[in-house]
Amino acid sequence: MSFARIVAALGGLLALLFGYITIFNRGDTTLVLWSGRVVTLPMSVLVLACVLAGASIVLLMVAATEMGGAARSLGRRRRLRRERRFEALFEKGCDLADLGLADRALSCFERILDHDPGHVSALVQLGVMRRRQGDAEVAIRYHKRALEREPTHIRAQVSLVEDCLDAERWQEALEVCGKLLEIEGEAMRVLVWSRDLQVRLGRLEEAIDTQRHLMRHEGLGGEAHRMLRRLQFLQAMARAEEGSSEAARKQLTEILRQERTFVPAQVELGRLLLGEGKEKEAVRRWREGYAQTHDVVFLHLLERYYLGKDDPDAAIAVYLNALKDAPASVELQFCLGKLYLRLEMLDNAYDTLRDLADAGASFPALHRLLGEVRHRRGDDEAAFGELQACVPFRVAAVVPYRCSACGVDAEEWQAQCPACGAWESLGMPIDPEG
Ligand SMILES: [Zn+2]
Repeated sequence: MSFARIVAALGGLLALLFGYITIFNRGDTTLVLWSGRVVTLPMSVLVLACVLAGASIVLLMVAATEMGGAARSLGRRRRLRRERRFEALFEKGCDLADLGLADRALSCFERILDHDPGHVSALVQLGVMRRRQGDAEVAIRYHKRALEREPTHIRAQVSLVEDCLDAERWQEALEVCGKLLEIEGEAMRVLVWSRDLQVRLGRLEEAIDTQRHLMRHEGLGGEAHRMLRRLQFLQAMARAEEGSSEAARKQLTEILRQERTFVPAQVELGRLLLGEGKEKEAVRRWREGYAQTHDVVFLHLLERYYLGKDDPDAAIAVYLNALKDAPASVELQFCLGKLYLRLEMLDNAYDTLRDLADAGASFPALHRLLGEVRHRRGDDEAAFGELQACVPFRVAAVVPYRCSACGVDAEEWQAQCPACGAWESLGMPIDPEG
């Protein structure tokens, strides 16, 4: 129904009402406005005036509500337009960052912040970019600002952890990880961060708990168990360092009970036993270790032990026995040749290493040793002078271990690379590429 019809209908109704009231109320009514002031009106006019007054009040209220709504929707539209402009600017910034145009991307995000200093997404993105530029401290400030506006913003918290890791603020990084885990307790990435940070801060007990938590997730397989052993191993070593070698030995034995082939535990258990004077047991542990894992590090330990006891024949027998089981092992022959050279048994050293080279083995450490043997024997000195000159010899042909992860050389075998911290990565440098 149109407005005009509604007005016409209402008008009609009012006219009817007016007529009806007028028929039955012909007399006038006296209305007292205030003391001494009265008006005399026909009854019907008074009723009509009341009806009209009520209607106009309702109309005024409706108009006011409508106008308020219009003003609100205008504000909302303006805000939406602004947000859309920020959104477009933000998208553009992200695109520019992806294209490697960092400066232009930064100015996009900064323009957003000029208008809205607490724009969380822009703050997060700006921080991430500053971190990538190497300024982790500035990144931390941006991400903290974002978290002031939205304390539970996940991306800001994750970015803050990454900033703190870059800035080597381990304690702070761990605290933010804790907050993240309060929001999302099963976040794998955060659990891994927490574990590594706890290790770094020496909180091994907590690290082991975190690792056990991680292991509740399926699909991690053997690597997770191995990591648990490594953490328990670190705990045992920390105990040994504190002087409670009894507790350390117990823990190492427990680790080996769960995983017989965990080389670091077997190595260190032997070292601990040796330190306590239990030589026989140490030797038995290392022999057992070799039998189970065929890791040549056990033979190196035995070699050093027998050489320390002035028993070179036993040291040589270590390799000869091992070679009986694996006659073609390059590693074993190389170690044996090295030992012969160390013992100045130059002919044996030459034969062993020559055999190895004749069988097709070729890697820098082998040539280095062969060069040294020939040099000491006095033959082909001129021919090998060149080799000698380009490859600097180490003292008494001690070829160290090399990390398969970062390539650093280490004299002493350790469970973790001293340079990059990779686990069980130290091995013989017999890689042809090395
Ligand atoms: Zn390394």
